Amino acid sequence: MEKERDWEKIIRRMELLMRLKSFPVAFKMLEKKEDLSKIPFMRRPGHKITLCQMITLVRNFDWTVGIELDDFMNPTCPSILGFTEVPEANRDGTFRSIVWVKTKEEGRKYEASIPRLPLGKYEALAMAPLAYKPFEPDIVLIYANPAQMMLLINSLQFEDYEVMQFFCVGESSCSDAIVRCYLTGKPSLTIPCYGERRYGHAQDEDLVMAVPAGMMEKALRGMETLYRRGIRYPISYAGAEQDLTSAFPMSYGGLNQLEAVRGKDNRLLLGVTGGIASGKTTAANMLKELGAPIIDFDVIARKVVEPGQPALDAIVEYFGKQVLQEDGTLDRKKVSDIVFRDFEKRKKLESFTHPRINEEFVKQVNEIAAKDPDAIIQVVIPLLIELNLQYIFHKVLVVYISQEEQVKRLAERDSITMEEAANILKAQLPIDEKTGYADFVIHNDKTLDETKKQVEDLWQTLKQIQKERAG
Ligand code: ATP
Repeated sequence: MEKERDWEKIIRRMELLMRLKSFPVAFKMLEKKEDLSKIPFMRRPGHKITLCQMITLVRNFDWTVGIELDDFMNPTCPSILGFTEVPEANRDGTFRSIVWVKTKEEGRKYEASIPRLPLGKYEALAMAPLAYKPFEPDIVLIYANPAQMMLLINSLQFEDYEVMQFFCVGESSCSDAIVRCYLTGKPSLTIPCYGERRYGHAQDEDLVMAVPAGMMEKALRGMETLYRRGIRYPISYAGAEQDLTSAFPMSYGGLNQLEAVRGKDNRLLLGVTGGIASGKTTAANMLKELGAPIIDFDVIARKVVEPGQPALDAIVEYFGKQVLQEDGTLDRKKVSDIVFRDFEKRKKLESFTHPRINEEFVKQVNEIAAKDPDAIIQVVIPLLIELNLQYIFHKVLVVYISQEEQVKRLAERDSITMEEAANILKAQLPIDEKTGYADFVIHNDKTLDETKKQVEDLWQTLKQIQKERAG
């Protein structure tokens, strides 16, 4: 059975992230026209109508509507939906040659290029604003401007990347969006046609995309992740006349750094991450025993703020001596309390520490590789995914335990209540989401022996990868 989706949550979030101007439309084809009357708040047209008029009644008037063959003004729309045969005057090109093309031959080609739903499969269609969860839709229609649409495309491509193709038959753009989506099971974008602008009130800047209902959660997941990475609508401009080095995402500016870290030898960098108390240290230590040295970002982060280090001097200059303990070391709790609610101060703190952490990281990697150019180097970073650092590593390992187990282990290890542990977890990206970024997952739910077996297998795999890279 298909799982029930929380459409209200999905749609309200998407409306917010895309700043949509009209409601996303739930679109469902019905095999029996009698089923229309089973849908709550259903309105039927009291006069002859076109498909694009009906769409705008949903997305702009906020209505739930249903339509069947007899409601249509002429056979063009229903023949696209497969409610009726394509009329002879359409098939032979006459219809399209009245306005849109020069000859009947062009009109014939035009008509033949229009994708259609199978004849007789459906008798009716229902549409409603999806946020009201009116029914489980087949597809969802989203109207948006090109910048918003680009964000939606990026979001859909975030997982299972695929190049997106657009089609445009000209007039009858409903076939490009709706029918192609049905026939291919893929998102279908197009430019609303003249008719849809005149009768369906599509705005000058509107594009339309039909998205299979089953892909909407994926689209939202992608959009949420891109939002965290700074890809948002409206797009914030970076000055055309300025040096943009600092405005580009890390993956552009960071490419130079990538070379410094990856070197030109056969080192293999394994990013190790997971949730708090999921067993990163435990698994990394097992892998170390087999031969993979560890670089630990937590250790580096503490090292760069030791007394005498330039980062500590800069911190004290900015925050004052209040952040030092009596012995001259940094009072980490005090600093984290200060930056907890003050984003500017957090940024400032990071500007003192991050470059030093990075320098130390590069130094340690290169020291290890200088001794062993084939080293498999583990880099343990608790927030690797949150900080979007995956691109630095050849491979990423997530040490996984279920969230329930995570709460238990954290409570036990840090002598806190289960409730406190659960609250700490809420502030982090859920571990289940992290596994989606992993090349390898070690399941640390069971005994240490079972974890060890997985680590040994991973070690063999990593050595094999090394061998192949060395070629
Ligand atoms: P953090 O990120 O919070 O520092 P971590 O991910 O490095 O934690 P560990 O310190 O390796 O996690 O493990 C967390 C706790 O769970 C430790 O007390 C450890 O001894 C325990 N632990 C790890 N693996 C297992 C296991 N398979 N069975 C039982 N206990 C385990």
